Amino acid sequence: MQRKSSDEQVIATACSSHCGGKCLLRVHVRDGAIIRIETDGGKEPQLRACLRCRAYRQRIYDPDRLKFPMRRVGERGEGKFERISWDEALDTVAKEFIRVRDTYGPSTTFFLGGGGDNMQLHRARLIEGLFSMAGGFTAWWGVHSFEGGLYAEMATYGTTGSGSGYDDLLNSRLIVMWGWNPAVTIHECNTSWYLIQAKESGTKIVSIDPRYTDSTATFASQWIPIIPGTDTAMLLAMAYVIIKENLHDQRFLDTYTVGFAQFRGYVLGAEDGLPKTPAWAESITGVPAEVIGNLAREYATTKPAALVAGIGPGRATYGEQYHRAAHTLAAMTGNIGVHGGWASRSSVPPNYGGYELKLGKPPQGPGNPVEGGASPRKYSLPTSDGADSSARIHCTKLADAILEGKAGGYPTDIKMLFVMHTNFANQFADVNKITRALKSKSLEFIVVAEQLMTSTARFADILLPVNTFMERNDITLGGATPHYGYVKKVIDPLYESKSPLDICRELATRLGFPGYIDKTDEEWVRELMRGSDIPDYDTFKESALYRVSLPEPRVAFKEQIDDPEKNPFPTPSGKIEIYSQKLADMNNPEIPPIAKHIPAWESRNDPLAKKYPLQLITTHFKRRTHTQFEKVPWLRELQAQAMLINTVDAQARGISSGDGVRVFNDRGEVIIPAEVTERIMPGVVDIPQGAWYSPDERGVDRGGCANMLTRDEPSPGGAFCYNTSLVQVRKV
Ligand code: SF4
Repeated sequence: MQRKSSDEQVIATACSSHCGGKCLLRVHVRDGAIIRIETDGGKEPQLRACLRCRAYRQRIYDPDRLKFPMRRVGERGEGKFERISWDEALDTVAKEFIRVRDTYGPSTTFFLGGGGDNMQLHRARLIEGLFSMAGGFTAWWGVHSFEGGLYAEMATYGTTGSGSGYDDLLNSRLIVMWGWNPAVTIHECNTSWYLIQAKESGTKIVSIDPRYTDSTATFASQWIPIIPGTDTAMLLAMAYVIIKENLHDQRFLDTYTVGFAQFRGYVLGAEDGLPKTPAWAESITGVPAEVIGNLAREYATTKPAALVAGIGPGRATYGEQYHRAAHTLAAMTGNIGVHGGWASRSSVPPNYGGYELKLGKPPQGPGNPVEGGASPRKYSLPTSDGADSSARIHCTKLADAILEGKAGGYPTDIKMLFVMHTNFANQFADVNKITRALKSKSLEFIVVAEQLMTSTARFADILLPVNTFMERNDITLGGATPHYGYVKKVIDPLYESKSPLDICRELATRLGFPGYIDKTDEEWVRELMRGSDIPDYDTFKESALYRVSLPEPRVAFKEQIDDPEKNPFPTPSGKIEIYSQKLADMNNPEIPPIAKHIPAWESRNDPLAKKYPLQLITTHFKRRTHTQFEKVPWLRELQAQAMLINTVDAQARGISSGDGVRVFNDRGEVIIPAEVTERIMPGVVDIPQGAWYSPDERGVDRGGCANMLTRDEPSPGGAFCYNTSLVQVRKV
């Protein structure tokens, strides 16, 4: 803690707002209030915060923060509440949990948590552990951001720890940013810093994206626009060129992979009589055959090369195939496990490449009794702990499960819903269906723990005010520039808000488990730190940072490639599985054993395109992290929520920039200003996801909530389909 003047302190803390960044903040505090926020100005690589957390002061002091526990007094969704005490609120939650469990069985309570901030202590698993001790609950499966990527990685590599450090991009001679826009999403500190250094040192960077993104503008020397949902076809055509011109690394394929022969047969047309030529792909992707051929040659002959498969194209129907195809190309060119190559998707987990950011154990519950004995779900792979359990419900089907229950084929009839760290009625597909589900009489009790009156909070029966990360202690892990961050309490909790840990402790006592959380958050941070490499707690707390210094950038699968005998891949074959026997045994043509192009639903070729001819993508927005930061006035000044539409499509509809437009399909309607631009390809419109649902009296959204229009159907491997929707646009 640095003293600025007699009454002003500068407190270092780490942040991590579900963006993937784990940045360093220097928070100026006077008289117990935050007056200013700066960021890392120390040695490189700095962990510099982006615009969002630098504006966090307005988020903390938002006059609309939830101040007290409340009970609903109006209809669900109306947003009418009355203040109650914490005792009354938590007594009610505990009583309802017990009533529902004893009346209907433990599986009828559904706990929805998991978003929020990317910290290690104040997490959803606290409540999951408590509910497991108290009889169990039904959990979700499916990671919104990249379930398709996880599924593909489990199939190809047998693990999801497949990212490399962004610092290793400095070793690449060619970087292909496939649907990747880190200048906006950030996704780990310093990504842009490494990319700009790579560019300045002469590395060619190519961007493939339906939009001319900020990352394309800043880093790339070539932009290749592609029709959404067709990425696999282009990757297959690149494979075709590489095979035909004998540019693949046969030694690598022979040594480290299984199944190239089957893939080769499919690509050349031996399997289905359809060679996956660049001309074939041009008609699907809109990318000229010559451009595909040139990129294929460049990728195969520029060594090393990093094809970074951004996670956006994987959030689409058959997103798993896109990721599998990207893995296959990386294997064909020998770009796995080597410096400057890249094996997988864009996001970097903290633990990979031979070094683990370790921590001690947070409060732990037992296994969830509701899942005990449940068989693995059909077509599942264990993409995360318990994700393959047939007792779970895919996130995107939650509203449907509430409405349809067991009669609709779901494992339970949901009676109680506990929502924490998640804005369900905004960030999940088909918001109209979600609001129907939340109003459903069969759902007897809803608890929401939140910081603001979100669209989900409006449906709560009991509303619990949660504090922000500046009002509690926690720890976070930085993967790309490996470091531990101390998320330090900077001010006391505002109003009557409490931390997730404190809420869970008080609920645990009421459910008969007073010893479950037996420490303060700072004591827990100390406990977590004991399992790490951090040598000294006090220094760590003061600086909020412990950097891990490694002799070289981390590269996923380097051990497997350097010494395959000693370090087999954790797949059934011990090798990279271009062909997966496990997937073949599923015998599901929508989850083929090799990467395949499968035409997506709601594509341009769908008959529905006659009625709804434009493809909607729902991208990330610079001034938000999903729904977080949406209400911050400083950030709202920077960029207006608008729908991007190409000039050609706009002119055909008489639309100019700034005009209000109706964007609609059979699921819902949004009225939003248009931004007419050449930065998005014709036939595609973009409503950045995360704007707050704000329905008018007709149920038409006026806030710009993209999920009014998205479909609540996962891809067969579990990928969320936020980038697979057809819409029509009309001037208001
Ligand atoms: S929003 Fe994310 S990237 Fe931006 S400063 Fe906060 S933690 Fe860092």
